[in-house]
Amino acid sequence: MTRPPVNTQIAGVTLPVHSTNTLIIGSGAAALNAALQLLAHGQQDIMLVTQRWGAGASNEAGSDKQTYYKLALAHSASDSPRQTAEDLFRGGCMHGDIALCEAQHSAQAFYHLVSRGVPFPHDRYGAYVGYRTDHDPRGRATSAGPLTSHLMCECLGRAVREAGVALFDLHQVVALLTCEAGGEKHVCGAVALDQRRLAGGQSGFVVFNAANVILATGGPGGMYRASVYPESQVGSTGLALAIGAVANNLTESQFGIASLGFRWNLSGSYQQVVPRYVSTDMSGGDAREFLNDAFSDLRTLSGRIFRKGYEWPFDSAKAQGHGSSLIDVLVYQETVRRGRRVYLDFTRNPSDPTGRQAWSLDCLDEEARLYLQRSGASGATPVARLRAMNDPAYELYRGHGIDLASDLLEVAVCAQHNNGGLVGNEWWESNIRHLFPIGEVNGTHGVRRPGGAALNAGQVGGLRAAMFIARRYTQPPPGVEDFARRTAPQIAACLEFADRVVGRSGGDGLQPAQAVDEIQTRMSDCAAILREKGTVTAACDAAWRLYDRVRRELARSGTQALPAAFSAVDLCLTHAVYLEALREYLERGGQSRGSYLVLNPRGLPVDAKLDEEWRFLPAQPADFVSQRILEVQLTSERQVERRWVDVRPIPNVDGWFETVWNDYRNDRIVC
Ligand SMILES: Cc1cc2nc3c(=O)[nH]c(=O)nc-3n(C[C@H](O)[C@H](O)[C@H](O)COP(=O)(O)OP(=O)(O)OC[C@H]3O[C@@H](n4cnc5c(N)ncnc54)[C@H](O)[C@@H]3O)c2cc1C
Repeated sequence: MTRPPVNTQIAGVTLPVHSTNTLIIGSGAAALNAALQLLAHGQQDIMLVTQRWGAGASNEAGSDKQTYYKLALAHSASDSPRQTAEDLFRGGCMHGDIALCEAQHSAQAFYHLVSRGVPFPHDRYGAYVGYRTDHDPRGRATSAGPLTSHLMCECLGRAVREAGVALFDLHQVVALLTCEAGGEKHVCGAVALDQRRLAGGQSGFVVFNAANVILATGGPGGMYRASVYPESQVGSTGLALAIGAVANNLTESQFGIASLGFRWNLSGSYQQVVPRYVSTDMSGGDAREFLNDAFSDLRTLSGRIFRKGYEWPFDSAKAQGHGSSLIDVLVYQETVRRGRRVYLDFTRNPSDPTGRQAWSLDCLDEEARLYLQRSGASGATPVARLRAMNDPAYELYRGHGIDLASDLLEVAVCAQHNNGGLVGNEWWESNIRHLFPIGEVNGTHGVRRPGGAALNAGQVGGLRAAMFIARRYTQPPPGVEDFARRTAPQIAACLEFADRVVGRSGGDGLQPAQAVDEIQTRMSDCAAILREKGTVTAACDAAWRLYDRVRRELARSGTQALPAAFSAVDLCLTHAVYLEALREYLERGGQSRGSYLVLNPRGLPVDAKLDEEWRFLPAQPADFVSQRILEVQLTSERQVERRWVDVRPIPNVDGWFETVWNDYRNDRIVC
């Protein structure tokens, strides 16, 4: 059921207003699933608006073997939702009720994907067998190959199209609209730019009048210069921050070694074949095997490179004692601290730091050597081993114009995922009523999460939001006139910003690309795997100064560039709020944990061979910051309120059938 748009005068401009019960923003795996879940739960009045169908991390990112985390379901696997919840919760700074929901709905969400055609492998008896991923004691992981999340989008997207969901492609949402009701702030719609109507000087603004908004805009991929998010995934968390939505755990991003240019995680086979790491100066001269500065023997060096294959994300707990994460530290030091470029070389083996022996399989410990031998990967060079073990991994790069048999592959320690994000309750509803952040924009996880849990969380979030909306928020949106009257000042602010940007065309003001460049440099230099109080504080102040400039001084020629201008404002606000969270964490004495190190002169050396400044202390379970979750909220234009809330435990539920049935029949469950 789709109502036709009503052209309405708002702030002196005639704009098309579309009305719907639920507006879904985004077309990643989380958004598409949410649309199908709403239909399945009986809510037909929905619209889906997306920047570009096919854009985003789900559709365009992957890895060697992209993981989906679910309950262990095969044969005699011993598992339960409670145990899964406990393992999620053990990651630290995750609320127990949310962990329980993600665990309870895991099988349901997974089998929904199976029923939509996602080719997760099963045996002849129907067992969806699993393997162990990081922070997973029970082999709960599965994979449909390197492109698991892409396949999810393909299958879910097909079903969304077949269901005839009203789709607004090439529409960038630039603002969420709110109104007050019962003393609370509600979301009530959105303003978007129709990118096809920007040509010829048309403004292209479109307005949505919605009773509910599901925000599925993904993670803040555009915030870092070194990033393995696809280029298309910039993120729009600022939309929600700007209206006062609370966010949490923004400090907890995940980083790892990935290729630049063609962005891809260098996990799994790419490391298990033990390539050589080389750095050069910016112009390609002075090539050095820089890992040899810290690793003093070939066996340890090769073993740690091999291990990086399945210990891919940087983990502060694996940096000391020549752990595999020391490699990330050394890559970071070369690229960020020393301004050099780092490459993986698959044409040659690593050389011996002592210069005494040539590389051979015998340099590996037994586990690694047997793994390569069993995989038939005992060739003389890393690329020969890669082609023997996983030729598609080699072909993937060739398909992007990089031949690992001859080309060096430029890499960096890249931002890959944010465990934190917007806050939702156990129905994924934000403190802004009727707003449901789902997928990566919702930060359900804390310090660590099992690999693959992000995809499960995105599916469960959409399911829970749909259950709630279809049960409790079924009302149609208000009449267009009423809506227009209530939201006119907010819509006018968007139009005025656009007028200012376009009107200042060609001048010598700040270009959106310049602003984005400054944001990305700041975040990669100060808010990635290495954090220091002084630098973060300075970065935070600089971020707010840029935010002021972006809103006043952005200049760009023509309406065509409006999407970039709005996106720059969003990203700028987002990075300022993220830096506020980092500052607060460090001011509270927060130490190294998850995927970052906090430098501390009183701490332990990361490695004896690194510079003296590389000292750190691991965060302890009893620390203030480990017992609580940091929430942040923009309360006025530049004012960020910070709150430390206690971590909610996993609820102890009795689960007596007669009681639950009674509550269910009397509509006391979804509330
Ligand atoms: C390289 C890489 C490997 C990964 N591997 C794994 C893994 O193995 N297992 C795992 O669980 N997770 C993994 N992740 C994380 C996981 O892929 C993401 O968290 C997940 O796909 C996010 O899904 P989403 O639907 O929330 O957002 P996305 O898929 O990123 O989609 C966001 C959507 O919102 C749209 N959008 C954004 N802003 C706007 C706007 N203003 N207006 C309109 N539309 C907008 C985008 O165009 C896009 O359609 C990986 C991520 C990366 C980058």
